[in-house]
Amino acid sequence: MTKGNINVSVENIFPLIKKFLYSDHEIFLRELISNATDATLKLKHLSTIGEAQVEYGNPKIEVKIDKDAKTLTITDQGIGMTAEEVEKYINQVAFSGAEEFLEKYKDSAKDSGIIGHFGLGFYSAFMVAEKVEIITKSYKDTPAVRWICDGSPEFTLEETTDKTDRGTEIILHIAEDSTEFLEESRIRELLLKYNKFMPVPIKFGTKTETLPLAEDAAEDAVAETQEVDNIVNNPTPAWTKAPSELTSEDYSKFYHELYPLQFEEPLFHIHLNVDYPFNLTGILYFPKLANNLNIEKDKIQLYQNQVFVTDEVKGIVPDFLMLLRGVIDSPDIPLNVSRSYLQADGAVKKISSYITKKVADKMASLINENRGDYEKKWNDIKIVIEYGIISEDKFAEKSDKFTLYPSTDGKYYLWNELEEKVKPNQTDKDGNFVILYASNADEQHSYIQSAKDKGYEVLLLDSPIVPHLIQKLEGSKEKVTFARVDADHINNLIKKDEPAISKLNETEKETLKKNIEEAISDKKFSVQVEDLDSTDAPFVITQPEFMRRMKDMQATGGGGMFGMGGFPEMYNLVVNSNSEFASEIIASENAESKNSKIKYALDLAKLSQNLLKGKDLTDFISRSYQNLNK
Ligand code: ADP
Ligand code: MG
Repeated sequence: MTKGNINVSVENIFPLIKKFLYSDHEIFLRELISNATDATLKLKHLSTIGEAQVEYGNPKIEVKIDKDAKTLTITDQGIGMTAEEVEKYINQVAFSGAEEFLEKYKDSAKDSGIIGHFGLGFYSAFMVAEKVEIITKSYKDTPAVRWICDGSPEFTLEETTDKTDRGTEIILHIAEDSTEFLEESRIRELLLKYNKFMPVPIKFGTKTETLPLAEDAAEDAVAETQEVDNIVNNPTPAWTKAPSELTSEDYSKFYHELYPLQFEEPLFHIHLNVDYPFNLTGILYFPKLANNLNIEKDKIQLYQNQVFVTDEVKGIVPDFLMLLRGVIDSPDIPLNVSRSYLQADGAVKKISSYITKKVADKMASLINENRGDYEKKWNDIKIVIEYGIISEDKFAEKSDKFTLYPSTDGKYYLWNELEEKVKPNQTDKDGNFVILYASNADEQHSYIQSAKDKGYEVLLLDSPIVPHLIQKLEGSKEKVTFARVDADHINNLIKKDEPAISKLNETEKETLKKNIEEAISDKKFSVQVEDLDSTDAPFVITQPEFMRRMKDMQATGGGGMFGMGGFPEMYNLVVNSNSEFASEIIASENAESKNSKIKYALDLAKLSQNLLKGKDLTDFISRSYQNLNK
């Protein structure tokens, strides 16, 4: 038997590790199962290349709790270690990692994610165990050995006859303050969180299975049962297979395996698969989003070689893609490192721009394959694409190929189709393409109707980020202006074929303006007299497009720029000088009835813009009833 001192300068390393890494004790299990998996896959490799003369078979990893003995044991059937290897890999390599870690992070190691980065994997066992035993037998025909360490730098290492089969058993004597890890439910939870898709089957207990009845069984025969291994993981998840091997049911099945509480079907998936210039596989799913920007649960999961790393993907995956679901697996994603480290990592940055490109390519091919289907799904995917256009220039550059602009009549235009079909009829005198849009088909109904009556196309752009989107489009496209249907410049911007005719002369218009201003005395409204069609409404309230858009952007988080708040409410009251109402006002001699008519017309205009509220609305209604009785 060897007794020894692990050569570290720190007197007692384990209490320190424990203290520093307090928050994330549970990762010890992932570390030990990762090691067991590595050992198993190494053996597989060696036997494939003929280095190891062993029967590889169907190795599994077993996790076992013994509540009475207060132990948790992880057993693998991998390559095992010789006594020399235990000395080298456990005592020296792993410890030097621990030391390096402590040197660097003595003062600041609040971030438990650092642990694996310094090869502290195995020693994370001491976060939950007061004593750790390794019993291991190498695939090379050497005697089994037992290593015991109680968390001090002292260890013992001796030969043992306790183990005759190849592989490694790690026995954790769970510490008093960590007895939660002797609970079956807790261990099951961890296995499902970190190891659900690891490549070697993991057995945790047994389960009862009913055997099928024989064909000629009697009617009252009772089916026999048997105890079988309870395997907690799926060693070959869909993303590890080639797309050609998978049907759409397989993709759907995997989605539900990933998110067991999610009952809706995803709209479509993107299978990621690169091996140059880095390795990455994965499947992304588009869920039904509509206008929902909430992404609290069911986030994208990051794996490294089928080991769960994190689902905190902010900064790793571009923001707009965080609306998607699915998995990304890359050996280049460092296991166990802190998020700030991940974000600065070069490989991770490349991954992010690759995914962005891949999503753009997929959208382009989807719309080409089946335009009708894509249009049907548009309402549920648009927010991802609009968000992508706003936030990722690389994505925006490609987006004209697959961004749809729906009309209020249910037509869908690509950008080039808008230019071809809509632009010729909606260009102002300076040559700007004026795109009219509604943000709410019900609320802006009368404006939409009146624009359509004039032969204009009105788009329906109703997601909450549209103010940002159109700001971005105006900035990136030449001579394009967006105007909401109730915006002020509709009448100015759009070229009219016929010159306006005017029923009133300039003096009459002046009088009309003065009369109205006196009657309404509300500084929010600036009165504009214009020669509209005689059939147009006498009063129309519009909002300056710019002002309203800034307010909208502020409401949806426009970034720091306009963060100083409070845009004043401002409206235009467009008065149609060609309306019968205008002529009547001019002709009327009775100041009192003139005033009340103007107020009434203003109320009607407000009503159609959803601006008549509270006391004003109550007064309006009682006045209207009085008029009924007259
Ligand atoms: P890492 O896994 O990053 O190498 P660890 O501290 O987790 O670091 O493990 C240290 C070394 O101990 C491993 O590289 C491996 O050589 C050895 N080892 C740990 N667990 C096992 C095991 N179950 N079977 C065989 N070797 C093991
Ligand atoms: Mg390890």
